[in-house]
Amino acid sequence: MSDPQPQRVIPLHDHRPLALALPKSAFQADQRLTAQGLLADLRGRALHDLRISVTDRCNFRCNYCMPKEIFDGNYAYLPHSALLSFEEITRLTRQFVAHGVQKIRLTGGEPLLRKHLERLVAQLATLRTPEGQPLDLTLTTNGALLARKAQALKDAGLQRVTVSLDALDDAVFRSMNDVDFPVADVLAGIDAARAAGLGPIKINMVVKRGTNEQQILPMARHFRGSGMVLRFIEYMDVGATNGWRMNQVLPSAEVIRLLQTELPLVPLAPSQPGETAQRWGYAGADGRFDPALGEVGVISSVTQAFCGSCNRARLSTEGQLYLCLFADKGYDLRSLLRGDASDADLSNTIGHIWQGRRDNYSEQRQALGPDTGPPVKRIEMSYIGG
Ligand code: SAM
Ligand code: SF4
Ligand code: SF4
Repeated sequence: MSDPQPQRVIPLHDHRPLALALPKSAFQADQRLTAQGLLADLRGRALHDLRISVTDRCNFRCNYCMPKEIFDGNYAYLPHSALLSFEEITRLTRQFVAHGVQKIRLTGGEPLLRKHLERLVAQLATLRTPEGQPLDLTLTTNGALLARKAQALKDAGLQRVTVSLDALDDAVFRSMNDVDFPVADVLAGIDAARAAGLGPIKINMVVKRGTNEQQILPMARHFRGSGMVLRFIEYMDVGATNGWRMNQVLPSAEVIRLLQTELPLVPLAPSQPGETAQRWGYAGADGRFDPALGEVGVISSVTQAFCGSCNRARLSTEGQLYLCLFADKGYDLRSLLRGDASDADLSNTIGHIWQGRRDNYSEQRQALGPDTGPPVKRIEMSYIGG
């Protein structure tokens, strides 16, 4: 008789965190905040941006984000009933906007996998700031479905897109998305977005040392002078599944040095407060910034913490509010939405949560050193959105 088959142990990876208690003060009559009013957190940071994750699923398996071994057929994705509906998202977003949010970014997982996403875009596009201004409404996508969806998204009121693209070389790109997806189809998506008027388009390239740094110059050459802004992002220790190591991070300073060997650059001033990317303009023959050649950005999330100006809140697919990309716990706003909370209760709760915010993970990482390891189990990027 042959030996019995060894039992396969399937590790259970449920990265969904416990919820934090909602602040009690939000429900005390004498602590009500006015529904409209700009908010500052404990470090004086305003609430300006809201990133909304519309799905925890993705059609790619980028190994720095959703490694195949973990995000396989056994992974417990959220059931549809757990997801916020478009009406719930819009109702919540209205309260955030009343408190100062001016920019909305739809993300995921892959946001274009959410059915009829253009209907959500249409709802969000009707919202106005307290001053009566439309929101800056944008979306981050891997581009795989963009060629099919760009026009409908534009017609619904989306203004811009950011497309993630880690390489121009087809073999490198297929291996990084780990589902053998061809680069030509993403480039076709970018063309469609351009043709639909979803600009200015930003292109995000995560740089992982030993994997795609040889793609930095080809990407820069390709997008220079195209009207699109290429941004190089340091590979981050977000989540708990990607096996991040500091020696896989290529610091932005090295990226700039490499670019300068062939394409002269000059530093540019930030275009708005709280901007995550440092901007560099391509220099013309006279050594000065040439707007026709455009600019690149570097996002130094690991080597240069920008927590001091971090003005972003994040709403997860199931309606948890996170105050930091590296948080391990969020606040369950869905329970309020699906309970009997009024709009004033929602607004008040959001206000109290933001006013109690002190998050600054990247600063702590810098102070403690990167190899101290994650103190707690962190949420995944695919769950909270980038
Ligand atoms: N699926 C969409 C996409 O890829 O654009 C949207 C969601 S994805 C989580 C958002 C962004 O996060 C992408 O630009 C992706 O490259 C970036 N990202 C994911 N994991 C990362 C990591 N460990 N470090 C740095 N950026 C990361
Ligand atoms: Fe999917 Fe975006 Fe994560 Fe890649 S980075 S696995 S495309 S969610
Ligand atoms: Fe913002 Fe957290 Fe990133 Fe700091 S670590 S910049 S607080 S998301």
